[in-house]
Amino acid sequence: MATYSFELYPPRTAASELSLYESLGELVAAAPEFISVTYGASGSTRDASLGVLRHLLTTSVAPMAHLTCVGWTYPEMTRVIREFLDAGLTSFLALRGDPPAGAVEGDNFLGDLKSAGELVQLIHRVQVERAPFSQVDVPGFPGAKRLASGEKVTIAVAAFPNGHPRSRSVEQDIDTLLAKEAAGANLAISQLFFAADDYLRFVEQARAAGVTMRILPGVMPILSPQRLHRMIELTGERMPLDLLARLESAGTEDAQYAVGVEHASALSRELLDGGATGLHLYTFNKHQAVLSVLGEVGLFTPTKEHA
Ligand code: FAD
Repeated sequence: MATYSFELYPPRTAASELSLYESLGELVAAAPEFISVTYGASGSTRDASLGVLRHLLTTSVAPMAHLTCVGWTYPEMTRVIREFLDAGLTSFLALRGDPPAGAVEGDNFLGDLKSAGELVQLIHRVQVERAPFSQVDVPGFPGAKRLASGEKVTIAVAAFPNGHPRSRSVEQDIDTLLAKEAAGANLAISQLFFAADDYLRFVEQARAAGVTMRILPGVMPILSPQRLHRMIELTGERMPLDLLARLESAGTEDAQYAVGVEHASALSRELLDGGATGLHLYTFNKHQAVLSVLGEVGLFTPTKEHA
């Protein structure tokens, strides 16, 4: 059975926090493989991200913490990783992060870690250094403790089926992915894309080059033309003109919602038929659309409220 997982971002206002926690309950109840929580480049959302992650640790769903390394020194990044491990997190999405707005090529904006691969290595190193000192209860022997034997961490990384906007070729993106796996990554999650073939071709090329870790396709139901424009701006993907035309000609918000869910469902179906072993759904902190998509592809049975 294919897996599914969700991405959230930390709330920025009290009102958005309230609505996130309403949706979070529904997302948790859908029993995904994990829920990942984004992290502002330069650590701008550290406390808010940790707040959502700590909440997730109290639920039955495994949280995954995005971490970015752009702009930090080794000691600073080590401290952040330790703080997340101390909070109980064992699953990370290691990202380089985008340079600050206005940074120019050649500026020393990157900090000590120059790529996501270096962050993967640092997370492993910090975890290994920390692990020998942790102790766990021995079941059946109250008060007895034993040393925890090297907890396993999941370290996911980003993959770009249509190329990272700054990379020179798909080969460079595949080499980067291979390097991230060699550094210790054990899962990849893709940037969004609009045609199943973009992902399926990329996975084929990655496998041929020697990438063995799972590569989950990132799927986002796009529910308005405004959001589509914004996502194109953020990701540098090519505008899917057919989807744009359908969203623009849908007269009402409800009709646009239906177009977005239908598009994401058709894409997800093609991905699963093409061999994808799971779906990573970008939720925009709302549960209805992603649960409807999962319902459409038969991975989840939504209640009336989700339909
Ligand atoms: P890397 O793996 O180090 O590099 C990625 C690719 O870019 C490689 O192909 C590399 O060769 C190429 N490249 C990078 N820089 C250059 C350059 N200067 N010249 C030429 N080629 C270059 N960002 C956040 O801030 N917070 C998040 O929570 C977040 N979550 C994300 C989740 C997913 C699933 C994805 C796909 C992206 C996310 N991002 C997030 C965006 C990410 O930080 C940016 O795409 C960033 O620019 C690259 O990060 P990376 O980890 O892919 O870097």
